[in-house]
Amino acid sequence: MIHVVGKTAGRWGLRVPARQGEEVRQALIREGALDPSLKVLREGSDLILPLREEREGASLFEFEAHPGREPLPRHELVGGIAIMQENDPSGAQQLLASRPSLHTVVFAQGEVHGEYRIREFSHLAGESTTRTLVTEHGHTFVVDLAGAYFSARLSTERQRILSQVREGELVLDMFAGVGPFAITLAKRASLVVAVDLNPKAVALMFENLHRNRTENVLPLLADARHLARILPWRFDRVVMNLPLADTEFLSEAFRLVRPGGMIHFYSLVSAEGEHADRIRELGGAIAAERVVRSYSPAQWHAVYDIRVR
Ligand code: SAM
Repeated sequence: MIHVVGKTAGRWGLRVPARQGEEVRQALIREGALDPSLKVLREGSDLILPLREEREGASLFEFEAHPGREPLPRHELVGGIAIMQENDPSGAQQLLASRPSLHTVVFAQGEVHGEYRIREFSHLAGESTTRTLVTEHGHTFVVDLAGAYFSARLSTERQRILSQVREGELVLDMFAGVGPFAITLAKRASLVVAVDLNPKAVALMFENLHRNRTENVLPLLADARHLARILPWRFDRVVMNLPLADTEFLSEAFRLVRPGGMIHFYSLVSAEGEHADRIRELGGAIAAERVVRSYSPAQWHAVYDIRVR
């Protein structure tokens, strides 16, 4: 069974059983993730803790504001940059003053688009830049939001995949971006081949390899469509993080995995088991299908862990 995160208008909140509420609340405060301007909600035996931004397991709820504390405008954080969905300069100043770690507030002028999966931004407050540093589980990644895709929301997912990697594996990241999956998995793998079509993403990946002293990632500027012809290896594990591509690249991934190997295939879906027939047809068995995050009320990002026969 997979759980689809329902969306209502409102603010991001995390549902926890009341008996774990205080422990989780303290952990969120330590992370700077709890929104102190909103009151905690109670629903039956659960508490809903208000969050500053979306995270895994969160849904949207209507919270009451604490009197006298103005709620922060909705935003997404990537390192020291807050991304707002509204062009709201005074909200941007409020955000900038809310956290010392913020250096910039930008307005996202649309959705991610094109092959490189990037967005356009306009500057609202603070330093005028789209470059920032993101710290994630002991790694630091330099990202440039206008130049290459990066999502801080996948950090839990990267740790989940790392927990499955065995020492010495040969791993392929087909859509590597600035390298967060590749650098994370390189902790256990013997070699990670990290491919991207966007030259800016690959240039940032080089910086990130240097910054994290990672010497077992091979960055490759290439189109994933041609990898089976370019690469001499068959991999133990392939990561496919290009959710809007549907199943277009799946057959290429199957060509690149050894029998018994694993593919982690991310996809935007609107039904459980949407790609199950295609996966079976290609010779795969679904080991797990999970929701990564909601995308719209009727669609979500799913990950299929596929064992290749
Ligand atoms: N895995 C990275 C992460 O989690 O930050 C990036 C994922 S992003 C959704 C998809 C990436 O695939 C983008 O950086 C884009 O440039 C790249 N891409 C798109 N089409 C490609 C192709 N045909 N071959 C190789 N890379 C491609």
